[in-house]
Amino acid sequence: MGYLLIVFLPTLLLSLYAQFRVRHAFSKHSKVNASSGLTGAEAAAAMLRAAGLADRTAIERVDGFLSDHYNPRKKTLRLSPDVYDNASLAAVGVACHEAGHAIQDARKYAPLVLRNAIVPTASIGSSLGYILIIAGLFLQWANLSLLGLALFGAVVVFQIVNLPVEFNASAHAREMTARLGIVRGQTETAAVSSVLSAAAMTYVAATAAALVNLLYYAWMILGNRE
Ligand SMILES: [Zn+2]
Repeated sequence: MGYLLIVFLPTLLLSLYAQFRVRHAFSKHSKVNASSGLTGAEAAAAMLRAAGLADRTAIERVDGFLSDHYNPRKKTLRLSPDVYDNASLAAVGVACHEAGHAIQDARKYAPLVLRNAIVPTASIGSSLGYILIIAGLFLQWANLSLLGLALFGAVVVFQIVNLPVEFNASAHAREMTARLGIVRGQTETAAVSSVLSAAAMTYVAATAAALVNLLYYAWMILGNRE
């Protein structure tokens, strides 16, 4: 079991640390309001208006903690209660990041288009890939394992393509909150930046974890083929 710890412990610790950082940054910057006084929903609406997307994008409240996301099929920003109704720097940062995804969608940002195209295969891969790999190893049927490995590879591709999508959405948020005066001055800018950077780290951690898993499965399958 020792090698399993060596392989998986660093990525597990990285993802726990990233989760901790994002919660910490969010709660810290939830206590201070942006001087513009806009709530997350209002800030996102202002950003969508400035991008000419107010008509095609709805903003809705969704249950959950940090469950905020943009739904490209329904053209809807879904903001959690802590973000939707709050005028904190954390709320504004998260809301405007999601509005950044709406802008990417409207402009057919290539990594987003690619990511959305990979989603069906990646979701099969994340549920079925592992099962096929184990079944193939158990039945000594190498092609089944390799099929599982290829499906799991789609998960890794998804995570890698997701990185520019997330970084770019945050870049839109940083640029537009400053330009529209939603966030003003050095202190407010730094607070929003720290929330967005913490969130970005969770995606880096998820990518590292998927990559390590893929390499481990590949090693397991190829190591079994004599
Ligand atoms: Zn995002």
